[in-house]
Amino acid sequence: MDVLVHAQAHLRIGLLSGNVRPLHTRVPQRRAAPMTVEEKCRRPVGLARVDRNTCQFPNGGECTSCVAACPWEAVMVAGDGFDSHIQVDSERCTGCGACEAVCPVRPSRAIVVNPPIQADRFHN
Ligand code: SF4
Ligand code: SF4
Repeated sequence: MDVLVHAQAHLRIGLLSGNVRPLHTRVPQRRAAPMTVEEKCRRPVGLARVDRNTCQFPNGGECTSCVAACPWEAVMVAGDGFDSHIQVDSERCTGCGACEAVCPVRPSRAIVVNPPIQADRFHN
């Protein structure tokens, strides 16, 4: 307690005598560059990835829930015939998670959003 009182007294004296500058003038002021709402929404926080082994679409199911749920049209049906599958466009995906939320596969969803550091942006 004594230490605190001493420190406060020193600070007061310093401020009064002009030897100590107020804290807000010493901390560097850093501000994020201004962004539009559109830019904020488009800033990727992750990347969705489809597990073709568990996804219902290429395995006889008719599910395309993730395609319908994606607000950025980043999930699509690719290929044809036996090769048709769900694919994520890594340039469009923001990692919002809407696709993962609607995927009916359990216990682990067939489409999962990975953090950017784990996301392999070229192999979906
Ligand atoms: S994480 Fe969002 S943007 Fe990316 S594919 Fe899923 S729904 Fe679309
Ligand atoms: S919602 Fe899940 S099961 Fe359905 S198509 Fe997408 S990844 Fe496959």
